[in-house]
Amino acid sequence: SRLLSASPGSGRLAGKVAIITGAASGIGKATAAEFVKNGAKVIIADLQDDLGHAVAAELGGPDMAFYARCDVTNEAQVAAAVDLAVARHGHLDVMFNNAGIIGGTYMGGPIESMDMADFDRVMAVNLRGVATGIKHAARAMVPRSQGCILCTASTAGVLGGSAPHAYSVSKTAVVGMVRSAAAELAARGVRVNAISPYGIATSMGTRAVREMLGLPLVGAGAGDEEAVRRVFEEDFNEMGGGVVLRAEDVARAAVFLASDDARYITGHNLMVDGGFSVG
Ligand code: NAD
Repeated sequence: SRLLSASPGSGRLAGKVAIITGAASGIGKATAAEFVKNGAKVIIADLQDDLGHAVAAELGGPDMAFYARCDVTNEAQVAAAVDLAVARHGHLDVMFNNAGIIGGTYMGGPIESMDMADFDRVMAVNLRGVATGIKHAARAMVPRSQGCILCTASTAGVLGGSAPHAYSVSKTAVVGMVRSAAAELAARGVRVNAISPYGIATSMGTRAVREMLGLPLVGAGAGDEEAVRRVFEEDFNEMGGGVVLRAEDVARAAVFLASDDARYITGHNLMVDGGFSVG
């Protein structure tokens, strides 16, 4: 495949070992591809086994990309993914805490009817999952005084009202967790940064837009697909001057932050949003 044409040992991430959570799909999958292309070895951590195995195979198989089932709400599984990376490759250089869920329904209805079980679920994946990833990555990275931890936040974490409350606040908290962990880990050689994308037509993004448009989540016709496509390609591209944001744009930002070019950048929240959050 095109990806295999990059010779191992060359590239901006040559020699680096990375774990990417939520890498069976969307932004995580695109980042896994971009990391492998740039010379990294990647552990694809997710709970969608079939998709995860398929992504690993597509990226060149076990030496380049290895699938490990890892539910980020389960600390033992996160710890095991870190241990697996170290056992397979000797060290861990990059931990990308990217897995996330939007939860409930698009806006979740009025706050008076907020579903607190859904709130807990979203926080467990989006915030506690990230904190758990930071904890176990630090365990592997601090003894070597090097490493890079990345966490996917969102424009929804800096703007009110653009997603359900639980989702937005979980992402605000991810940025807070990144700043807090970065402050501790700066002097211990480990960088911690967030990346905040705007709307992308991944499975989560598409689901959110379907709900926003009042479309059913399953069994939709082609006309509905067209309406969803229009939102991403014609409404959302107001940002970025007509450019449609792709998962690959986030992946390339992650390559930069994970590379030695970003060696002095920590505690930052890199907006990949075409100006949405400053508008
Ligand atoms: P996606 O649904 O395509 O991918 C999310 C992946 O995370 C899936 O493969 C899913 O199986 C995995 N996942 C969910 N819960 C998990 C768990 N408990 N343990 C392990 N893996 C789990 O969506 P995406 O858009 O690629 O989302 C990736 C990240 O980007 C999320 O954190 C999301 O909040 C964030 N984000 C997305 C957008 C967007 O518009 N798509 C915008 C801003 C931020």
